[in-house]
Amino acid sequence: MATTVVNEYRLNEDNELRLEVSNEDVVIELLNGTAELFGTQLILHKRYTLPAGFRGAIFTYQGAVIEVIGKTDSAYIAQQTPMIIYLNTHVALEALRENAEMQLKQDPNSTVRGPRIMVAGPTDVGKSTLCRILCSYAIRQSRTPIFVDLDIGQSSISIPGTIGALYIEKPADIVDGFDKNSACVFSFGHLSPAVNLLLYKTLITELAKVVKKKCKQQIAANVGGVVINTCGWVKGEGYDCIVHAAEAFEVDVVIVLDHERLFVELQHDLPSFVKILHQPKSGGVESRSREFRALSRRNVIHRYFYGPRNNPYFPHTFEISFDKPIDEQELIVAKFGAEQLPESCLPYGMEPEEHRTKVVRISISNELKNCVLALMPPSVNKVDQTLLEKPVHGFIVITNVDMEQKILSILSPQPYPLPSKIALFSEVTFIDDENV
Ligand code: ADP
Repeated sequence: MATTVVNEYRLNEDNELRLEVSNEDVVIELLNGTAELFGTQLILHKRYTLPAGFRGAIFTYQGAVIEVIGKTDSAYIAQQTPMIIYLNTHVALEALRENAEMQLKQDPNSTVRGPRIMVAGPTDVGKSTLCRILCSYAIRQSRTPIFVDLDIGQSSISIPGTIGALYIEKPADIVDGFDKNSACVFSFGHLSPAVNLLLYKTLITELAKVVKKKCKQQIAANVGGVVINTCGWVKGEGYDCIVHAAEAFEVDVVIVLDHERLFVELQHDLPSFVKILHQPKSGGVESRSREFRALSRRNVIHRYFYGPRNNPYFPHTFEISFDKPIDEQELIVAKFGAEQLPESCLPYGMEPEEHRTKVVRISISNELKNCVLALMPPSVNKVDQTLLEKPVHGFIVITNVDMEQKILSILSPQPYPLPSKIALFSEVTFIDDENV
């Protein structure tokens, strides 16, 4: 009979226990002291299950004893971490929040606002982790910041291929992160901004408008400020996207993790009032392989439909016929980006680039099989350019297309009928092997 491996780790102050969970869950428990995982405090003697493949670090400011039950791929105590630098960053942001709060109390019409901070750097330097830590520290001081994720490949707000914003009102769960139910999400439909740069920038501008509106409407959101995670593509056009995002969100602070050239270039290209800081990455962050990324993308979509393990959802599968006249169709699929016309054929006044953001209807075909589609809000009833300004209502997967019988099979969080009939095409796919 296999015996369970139990290890106890004694951490001194400012140490962290770095864990890589293998293909079986691991249970952790704080036996003594205080500790946190990416900014969320662990409750003494509460047992947390870390899922297979989990990577992370349990940090302590004062010292802690942590028990790990189960087999890990790696577990070691690190004495060198950048956590004090990240904590100091939080302290500086908090001072800006206090100042904004004080001025708004004196004059509610003041244009002052909480800090808007953007984290940039290549992939796998801990950008999302730093954003989570900064948001968690803000929450621990009763602030309610807005977290924005522009990383379409590995979004921590919604499914891959999207950008989004989340108004954070409660601490992140140790394993599941922040509650994403009220996220505002725009569908880009591809896994890299390079596929359609103009569209990516357009959606960033739209998301920034939503975030600024929220800050205008709600003092607590304005004071809490905005924490923005970016894509790890930092060269050429990827760099242009970072500059565009900084401008669209009117950021005051940019933290560059682990990339000297990006730091120097941003100092040169962003206005002088933007504070640009160069900070180290944590030695615990390791590069993730292409396969690991693909698997974590799949897991995120699976979780969207089937829920976390401790609180499973039961999605619905149903069929709809598309053998109907146009105005009776139950599902109309649109996409952003039309075929490019030769310049000589462009209508008068149309810019050559504009086809990249043109909203067009597409016909139902086998190409839709396994695609994750973004449903537009129920109020949307026609396919036009305004779809670019609309956050998505939710997602469905086209699990099968029967072109002969003209039937679509659908995986949906909600039962039949679909809550809205217009959906956006996305190249992102999900093979639903639970329903075969
Ligand atoms: P990026 O956003 O730059 O791509 P992430 O923040 O997603 O990087 O971090 C990459 C991986 O490293 C994630 O799996 C994260 O959980 C893990 N990680 C982050 N910080 C640490 C750390 N201090 N120790 C161990 N793993 C970490």
